[in-house]
Amino acid sequence: MRRHLLILLALAASMAFVVWQSQEIILSYYLLSGLWLLPVFYFLREKVYALLALSLTGVVLLHSWFFRMDPHPRMIALWIAQGFLFAGLYYYHTELKRFQARAQESKETVRKSLESFQGKYQTRLGSLRHLEVQVGSLMNLFEIARDLSECMDFSTLVEFLQKKIRSELSFEKMQIFLMPRKVPEKEPAPIEVYSMLQEGVQVEARILTDFEKQDFETMAHSSAMVRREETWYFPISEGTELSAVFAIHGMKEADLARVEVLSAYLVLLIKKIKLYETVRELAIVDELTQVFVRRHFLERLEEELRRSIRFKLPLTVLMLDIDHFKRYNDDFGHLVGDATLKEVADLLKRNLRRVDLVGRYGGEEFVFAMPETQIANAAEVAERIRSNIARHDFQVYNVQTKVTVSQGIVQFDGGGMAAQEEKADVKALASELIRKADEAMYRAKEEGRNRVCLYKDIKPS
Ligand code: GH3
Ligand code: MG
Ligand code: MG
Repeated sequence: MRRHLLILLALAASMAFVVWQSQEIILSYYLLSGLWLLPVFYFLREKVYALLALSLTGVVLLHSWFFRMDPHPRMIALWIAQGFLFAGLYYYHTELKRFQARAQESKETVRKSLESFQGKYQTRLGSLRHLEVQVGSLMNLFEIARDLSECMDFSTLVEFLQKKIRSELSFEKMQIFLMPRKVPEKEPAPIEVYSMLQEGVQVEARILTDFEKQDFETMAHSSAMVRREETWYFPISEGTELSAVFAIHGMKEADLARVEVLSAYLVLLIKKIKLYETVRELAIVDELTQVFVRRHFLERLEEELRRSIRFKLPLTVLMLDIDHFKRYNDDFGHLVGDATLKEVADLLKRNLRRVDLVGRYGGEEFVFAMPETQIANAAEVAERIRSNIARHDFQVYNVQTKVTVSQGIVQFDGGGMAAQEEKADVKALASELIRKADEAMYRAKEEGRNRVCLYKDIKPS
């Protein structure tokens, strides 16, 4: 609106100037040229104000020279001037259009590069955030790893992992396979497997599947991680031997880096626990016979006695001594004696339950405790052991021999115990039971050996 007003004002001013000059013919030319200039100005919009002002000034300046001419050449000169003006304005307009297009183009380029920069910035920001999350999660893993070092046995380790790792890593199943420490006697040997499943922890001793066997063999040779479908296996070797395997099933590919960090730590930890268990086992297990040493047997017996008192359960203690073993050694030598001792221990273990405790009490004396067992049942087991050993052909170093054993049994009746568990002196109780079983065993010796004698049967001689 303001623009139109200005154009009209400029035209009015130029006409007022001409009228003021009182030249009527010129006025009519001006009116005519002004009429066709008006749409041109209008069309070119405000960009032409400067030019309009300039042309008006030019017109005024030419005015004095112009009025000195005759009317006709004057008119022609005016038309030519107006033609030039129009051509100039047209040229200016097209240039302006071109300039505007170029400006638009470069604006577009700038907008596009800005957009791409923004995109790149967003991507960087995204990866930075991702990195931040990863670092945070790694920090959590390190903290968990630090706490893991407190675990001294595999059960505690898997319970701890199950509780802490599930929130850090998504996986379906995590497993620790422990290879047998000693060369297994029978093939294929069962492997101890600790599994962390969705529903909880599972401990089992099982034979490896064919696939597992194949993968474990690959790892034993290469000591490198193996992947089979959804399962990743990380080997743990001791020297050239594969001692354990850490496996993770159904994890996200994106978690691999973190699992590698965790597995590197677990490898060390599993090695440490295995070593710790070996040391512990060396301290509690008799090397020759692989049954508990006396001190450890007594500790375990005390534990069982406490349980027996608390739940009012019976417990039976047995003493076993090989008959005439001194003579046996003299006849066949100590080496044969040692091998025989080992074989007797194996026979014992084979005839007892997993819950029963077996210990080497002295040279060729064994002691065992059978929780939740009445003396009558224990006597049946003892009789089976006796006859199995008596019938057994001991084949050692090309020598075929036979041995017999004498046993004494005593029962502790948990229900009959007046004292409460915490007040009971289980140490004294354990020595008393062993003393009584020993007494019964000596009675068996006295009665001719190769027999079982119950403590209650002992009558004052
Ligand atoms: P019995 O018990 O029937 O009365 O007669 P015994 O000859 O077995 O008598 P005793 O229990 O007193 O003797 C134990 C013998 O066992 C003495 C020792 O020669 C032998 N002995 C003890 N420990 C070992 C061992 O680790 N290895 C071998 N080879 N012999 C052992
Ligand atoms: Mg003996
Ligand atoms: Mg003896």
